[in-house]
Amino acid sequence: MITLDSYIGGRWQSSDASPVWDVNPARPSEAVAYVHHADPAMATAAVEAAAAAFPVWAKTLAPERGALLRRAAHLLAERAEEIGRDCSSEEGKVVSEAVAETRKAASILQYFAGQALDPDGETYPSSSPGTFLFSRREPLGVVAAVTPWNFPIVIPAWKIAPALVFGNTVVWKPAEITPLTAVHLVRALEDAGLPAGVLNLVLGRGSVVGKVLTEHPSVRAITFTGSTPVGRGIEARAVPLGKKVQLEMGGKNPAVILADADMERAAQTVARAAFLHAGQKCTATSRVIVERAGYDEFSSRLVEVARTMRVGDPFDEHTRIGPLASQDQLDTVMEYLKIGRAEGAFTETGGSRLDDLGDGYFVAPTVLSGLDASSRVVREEIFGPVAALLPAANYEEAVRLANDTVFGLSASLFTRDLDKAFRFAADSATGLVKVNQETTNTEIHIPFGGVKDSSSGAREQGKTARDFFTERKTVYITHSRS
Ligand code: NAP
Ligand code: MG
Repeated sequence: MITLDSYIGGRWQSSDASPVWDVNPARPSEAVAYVHHADPAMATAAVEAAAAAFPVWAKTLAPERGALLRRAAHLLAERAEEIGRDCSSEEGKVVSEAVAETRKAASILQYFAGQALDPDGETYPSSSPGTFLFSRREPLGVVAAVTPWNFPIVIPAWKIAPALVFGNTVVWKPAEITPLTAVHLVRALEDAGLPAGVLNLVLGRGSVVGKVLTEHPSVRAITFTGSTPVGRGIEARAVPLGKKVQLEMGGKNPAVILADADMERAAQTVARAAFLHAGQKCTATSRVIVERAGYDEFSSRLVEVARTMRVGDPFDEHTRIGPLASQDQLDTVMEYLKIGRAEGAFTETGGSRLDDLGDGYFVAPTVLSGLDASSRVVREEIFGPVAALLPAANYEEAVRLANDTVFGLSASLFTRDLDKAFRFAADSATGLVKVNQETTNTEIHIPFGGVKDSSSGAREQGKTARDFFTERKTVYITHSRS
C-alpha cells in the first residue's frame, strides 16, 4: 500500500502524524492509500518555499514556462488511464469519467501553455510628445490554491496552470479525500522539470492547515473552489489582510422546461445533469421547473430515465453512477431525503440508499415532487443525486422560480422558441446559461463562474484567467523628442 506525502520545496516530505486512510467510497473497508497529513509548520514551510522560488520563476521566460506545462500535459495524457483508475478508486466517479477528466486536465495545461505566447499588455497614445505609454501584466507572487474533491484533477489544473504560466508560484491544498489524484498531478509537473518550490503540495485538513494558507503574509492571493460557507470564511479572513481572493462555490441550479420543448431530449439531458457523478457537481441540476402544460409528460419521462440509470461499481463499464464520495456526503444526502419527506415531498423515484451494493455509499437517483419553493430541499445545496420538480404557470413564473435562490451558478432552458432562448440569456441571474443543454459541462476556453453566493472575484478559465493571476503595471516613458 502506498503512503502519500506532501511536496515542499521540491521534496516529498512526510509528517510525524500517523497515516490516515484514503478510503474507496465504493468499498469503504478498503484503503486506496495511506496519507501523512501535513501540520501547520509544514504548510508554513510550503509557503516559504514558494516565496523563495518566486523571483527566479517570475523571471523565467514565459515561453519556457509554457513549454514546461506542455511537457506535463503530455505526461498526464500518457498516464490518463492509470490516473483515472486511481481517481475513480478514491473519489467514486465512474472510471471513464475519471479518465476523461484527466485528459481534460491535460488539455487545460496545453491551453494555458499557449497563453504564454499571448500579448501581455497594451500600448496607449499619450497626450505628451515623445512619450510611450504602456501597461504590462506581472505575476502576483505566491498563490494558494484550495480545491474540492468532486473534480480532483481538472479544477486544480485550471487554477495551477494559469497561476504558473503567468509567473506565480503555488501552494496547493487539495481536498482531504482525494490526495492520490493530487499527487499524480504534482508528479506530472515534477517529471516535466518544474523547479523546486514553484509548486508545493500540502496534504492536510482544511481546518488544520487552512489558516496558514489563507493568512500567511507571503500569500498574495487565494483561489478557492468549494462550499459557500468555507469560501466566505476564507474571504472574511483574507480580504482584510490585503489578499486577492477568487471563490467558486455552491449552486442550486435550475433547469426550466417549457411546454414546447423536445420532451424526450429534455428528460435525457436533465437526468444526466442531475444524476451523473451522483449529482456531485457544482453545476448539477437540482431544481427542475416545468411549465404546467408539459408537466405530466416531462415528469413521467424524467422518472423513467432516472429509473434506468444504472448505479454501481465505478469500474463496471455498464455503470452510469458510482457512489457518493464519502460517509459525510452520504450522511448529508440521507438527511436531506429525511427533511424532504418531513416537508411533504412525494418520492417519484429513488429516495433511498442502495444497500444491495454492499457498504459503498450508493444512493438511487431521486426525483421529488410536491415541494413548496420555500422548502429546504428546494433552497439548500444537497450535492447529491436529488432533483425537485416544481410546476410553473408560464415562462415568467418559471424564471421567477429559477432566480429565487441565493445561488447563481448555472441554469438551463429547454425550448424550441428562439425568442425565449434569448430572453432567458438575459433574464437568468446566473453566470452560466445553457439552452437545450445540461447545466453541467463547460468548455475550457470560455469564462466560467457564477453570481450571488456562487462566486466572488475574477472569472476562471479562458482568457479571463489572466485577470486574477496577474496585476497590471502602467509605465510612462518620455524619450528624446524627434
Ligand atoms: P469544502 O468542504 O468547502 O472544501 C473545499 C476545500 O476547502 C477543501 O480542500 C477543504 O479541505 C478546504 N477547507 C475546508 N476548511 C477550510 C479552511 N478553514 N481554510 C481553508 N481551506 C479549508 O467543499 P467540498 O466538500 O470539498 O466540495 C463540495 C463543494 O464545492 C460544493 O459546495 C460544491 O458546490 C462546491 N464546488 C463548486 C465549484 C464551482 O466551480 N463553483 C466546483 C466544484 C465544487 P478539507 O477537504 O480538508 O476539508
Ligand atoms: Mg469537505
